[in-house]
Amino acid sequence: MYRIPRGTQDILPEDQPYWRFLQGLIHRLCQLYGYQQINTPIFEETSLFVRGIGEGTDIVEKEMYTFKDKGGESLTLRPEGTAPVMRAYLEHGMWVLPKPVKLYYIVPIFRYERPQAGRYRQHYQFGVEVIGEQDPAVDLEVISIAWHLYREIGLKGVSIQLNSIGCPKCRPGYVKALVEYYRGHEGEICADCKVRLKRNPLRLLDCKNEGCQGIIEGAPRSIDHLCTDCRQHFETLRSYLDFMGLPYDLNHRLVRGLDYYTKTVFEFWAEGIGAQNALGGGGRYDGLIEELGGEPTPGIGFGLGMERIILTMKDQGIQVPELPSPKVFIAHRGEAAKRIGLKLLASLRAAGVGAVFAFGDRSLKAQMRQADRAGVDFTLILGEREIESGQVTVRAMAKGEQFEVGMDDVVDWLSQRVLKPIGERL
Ligand code: AMP
Repeated sequence: MYRIPRGTQDILPEDQPYWRFLQGLIHRLCQLYGYQQINTPIFEETSLFVRGIGEGTDIVEKEMYTFKDKGGESLTLRPEGTAPVMRAYLEHGMWVLPKPVKLYYIVPIFRYERPQAGRYRQHYQFGVEVIGEQDPAVDLEVISIAWHLYREIGLKGVSIQLNSIGCPKCRPGYVKALVEYYRGHEGEICADCKVRLKRNPLRLLDCKNEGCQGIIEGAPRSIDHLCTDCRQHFETLRSYLDFMGLPYDLNHRLVRGLDYYTKTVFEFWAEGIGAQNALGGGGRYDGLIEELGGEPTPGIGFGLGMERIILTMKDQGIQVPELPSPKVFIAHRGEAAKRIGLKLLASLRAAGVGAVFAFGDRSLKAQMRQADRAGVDFTLILGEREIESGQVTVRAMAKGEQFEVGMDDVVDWLSQRVLKPIGERL
């Protein structure tokens, strides 16, 4: 027996209503906000991610699915959504479009992580990217989309965590202050933090180790080291959030795991789903496009974890509409009736009425049991008598009533009675 690869999941039919519901909502919201969908390949040149995400990061160092193809080229399964979209933006000359360029996607993400509830090696993200505008009102819009989505789903207990980590002008000063502070505590920090202190000091603030928490509490805060531009940007964003009534928590420890972030960073946290409580996160990346070979161009975006949204929905008992199933079953006896049944099956479907057929040549009794289990509203019964008379027997399953309907009229008859054609609801 083969087993599914560790950390991956099958999305079985019973879970699909959640996915459809969520995807439907995402497409609708993105239309409302004026975002256009983009899809990029599942893999890219490895160097795009190394360059974009940054060499000292966990993702690049430990989590990428990297392989050589038969031509010897190093490729990597997408470990995050932003860099591929920036690659596409540059490759297709999208800078000629009116700015900002506003894009969204729903894509699988691959990371070699230690699997646990809410953390997988393949997961899906809904992401947006806004390219070419540095107005803090764009930061507001991006945060609002996620907030709107969570609200529309009906999630409770979601919080916005907000911080600013500055820009290449002011961040070095902050990192220096952070490193100096930590040097004074080197004897007290965990082994991982000793490595972070050397390689990626901002991540010191991310440490989950008990013993390091007190030290983090006392650490210098990035917002106290912002340059004028970054400070103004952050203050304006905060005033917009206040003005629009979006509640947020200032979180000095929020640094995010990727090197490309500048200024605004944010996450959305949920109550009640355990350790993996980040529903999504994002931030500004004003230096990324230049880093990837384009003109200096500001950008901002987020990635929201689809599985974690669905876990939270289930945890909070949020119901989604069932997908409609076929409402007609066709039962038959004898080869001639079977053939007429196949014709009627095709005509019903062509008319947008969902219908299923009794495959095989079981007894009528067995076929009626199948019809019961299929949960249909009507069963067409076709036998020799029906063929001779040109009348079809239609059984309304709920009450057990039977009707005789002319063969040529039965598609119309059913169309009028079956709640709504499936095709119109897709
Ligand atoms: P990140 O950019 O790493 O913060 O990821 C954005 C969002 O994707 C997170 O807030 C999670 O909701 C989701 N996510 C990230 N990694 C995983 C994972 N390994 N499994 C499931 N969801 C994830």
